[in-house]
Amino acid sequence: MQWQRSVLRAVVFVLFAVALPAWADTPESDYPITPVPPTQIELADGFWNSRMETNRKVTIPYDFQKCEETGRIANFAVAAGQLEGKHRGFWFNDSDVFKVIEGAAYSLALHPDPVLEKYLDELIAKIAAAQQDDGYLFTIRTIHGEEPFRQQRYTGKDRWSHLEHSHEFYNVGHLYEAAVAYYQATGKRTLLNVAIKNANFIDSLFGEGEGQKIDVPGHQEIEIGLVKLYRTTGEQRYLDLAKFFLDHRGVPEGRKENRVYGEYCQDHQPVTEQTEAVGHAVRAAYMYSGMADVAALTGETSYIRAIDTLWENVVGKKMYLTGGIGARHHDEAFGANYELPNSSAYNETCAAIGNAMWNHRMFLLHGESKYIDVLERVLYNGFLAGISIDGDEFFYPNPLASDSTYKFNKGSTARQGWFACSCCPVNIVRFIPAIAGYMYAKRDDDIYVNLFVPGEGTIDLDGDRIRLEQQTRYPWDGNVHIAVDPEKPKTFTLKIRIPGWVRGECVPSDLYRYENPVAEKIALKVNGKEVPLTMEKGYATLTRRWQTGDVIDLQLPMRVRRVLSNSKIAENQGRVALERGPLVYCLEDVDNAHRVADFVLPDNTPIRSRFDANLLGGMVLLEGTGIVAKMPSEAGPTETGPTETGPTETGPTETGPMPFVAIPYYAWSHRDPGKMAVWLPRNLKTLKQAAEKDKKTE
Ligand SMILES: [Zn+2]
Repeated sequence: MQWQRSVLRAVVFVLFAVALPAWADTPESDYPITPVPPTQIELADGFWNSRMETNRKVTIPYDFQKCEETGRIANFAVAAGQLEGKHRGFWFNDSDVFKVIEGAAYSLALHPDPVLEKYLDELIAKIAAAQQDDGYLFTIRTIHGEEPFRQQRYTGKDRWSHLEHSHEFYNVGHLYEAAVAYYQATGKRTLLNVAIKNANFIDSLFGEGEGQKIDVPGHQEIEIGLVKLYRTTGEQRYLDLAKFFLDHRGVPEGRKENRVYGEYCQDHQPVTEQTEAVGHAVRAAYMYSGMADVAALTGETSYIRAIDTLWENVVGKKMYLTGGIGARHHDEAFGANYELPNSSAYNETCAAIGNAMWNHRMFLLHGESKYIDVLERVLYNGFLAGISIDGDEFFYPNPLASDSTYKFNKGSTARQGWFACSCCPVNIVRFIPAIAGYMYAKRDDDIYVNLFVPGEGTIDLDGDRIRLEQQTRYPWDGNVHIAVDPEKPKTFTLKIRIPGWVRGECVPSDLYRYENPVAEKIALKVNGKEVPLTMEKGYATLTRRWQTGDVIDLQLPMRVRRVLSNSKIAENQGRVALERGPLVYCLEDVDNAHRVADFVLPDNTPIRSRFDANLLGGMVLLEGTGIVAKMPSEAGPTETGPTETGPTETGPTETGPMPFVAIPYYAWSHRDPGKMAVWLPRNLKTLKQAAEKDKKTE
């Protein structure tokens, strides 16, 4: 039975990933490591499968419904002349519809659904009808025609006249991604033809040729889309156009280009000279991802040098413990080095997605586990907080502390069902199904096991099918059982990622460190016998002649870890955060007898972990006893009397022990829009300083 399913999936896989269209050439050079696509993975019950099922059953239909209600879909019908009306919403709203189509296509690839497919075909027909004869597709301009309209200050009066803000290229980048996904899922070409016609039109207008325009997108994304179009069609010019858009950023010396979009759009320097991540974080992460793609396909080593340096900058100086990036609300931008405030952190959900996409590509280029360590940190923390467990409410920013009065989430202190600019909810639906594609990868005779998720993966290694079946309760415990089942006995290498957190390395930089960086004893067994850990680039490497019946058992002890910050992150001084396995924890008022704001977690306090099956779908909680402190005005006489710490002169007084409960960060804000903190004071002095700072800002 298992083999029948595997064979079926292998057939699907060939349809999907290998022999895409008959006319597509396989690129001559590509990433040295090849990911195993989600269509080769069948997840079993567990943490991610339930998220994917919620995405399929709740979030995708919900997002389409919101796109209907808000006129995003009607805009295509109006542009096509099928419906009377005006353009509704932002000028870039076409992209939201494309992103939900992409997510729905990934869902269809794994779960055939005639009702969803019919809906998509009708929607795609509207999009095709909205495309102008020359290939242009931008509903707001088509609807308004020659008439002036309010949002012209962003779109420009004429086509392509204000690319800094118009999103004309950004929108169609998402069109290309959706078109490729839908074609791969169904073999239907209608949307792919719309994408090709549009890309051909843009390619005819932009370039270094006689009479062509030189300009670049203000919001990167088309580069990623063009690469996908190139991979699908084999048309070299799409790859060249992606490279053209990258190479003309920052106005290279010797070129006369009447344009400076500046740091906000990463247009302040040529991409190969950029060394610090600046400006709008989503644009940056999409650009770095596009650079990785183009570098893999063209061998452009100057791109790789640049993104290596930018990665060191982000992971070493600009990333939150949750894997979130983009510290500032203003401009949705990266802050300065070490500017990582907690309650005012922006950390857009889309930027977390971009950071994950980028780190996956860095792994495919370099084969080092540190990139997957960052990716995993994003997945379980900074990204996952962005969507509610029920799948229909969203965070746009993701702060690491909340006082439950500051309405950080676009006017709300809690997740919201939708936003006027809804880039995040629609990005989530296309990202969640893609996560299965991060589990495995291969290179020659090596198979990489990157993520620990229960289920089966089928990997084609040099013409032989290898089936791997993982059983694990990860992220709740670190025991991973892998059954290896090759079609016939075969010698190859399994490279199993040993996460940084078990090796005593919090992040692959000195930005965060464990208070006790001891490496845990990792047990690795093959067929019940312990084998030595042979580590290579962060992977335990097992080479042998594998045969059906072979099993691997990996035990990654999940101790509660205390995290300390680099001393240059001002807000975290005197503070500690808690982690267990890949999860970052937080305290919320709702679980605790006293306010989180009054809580101090002294070093050496014992902390226990306990699985609670009933809380929010089940989770491991952390529990212990810290101390509660009050400011002098509210302290009053204490029952316990002065303690060892004693009262500070003008600061808070310790008033007693405080038993506490911490929950995984992703699960915060599900019960009430409560107060929350990731970084906790280690002593009264830190609490006092925080109170003084609050007073000043009041
Ligand atoms: Zn967003």
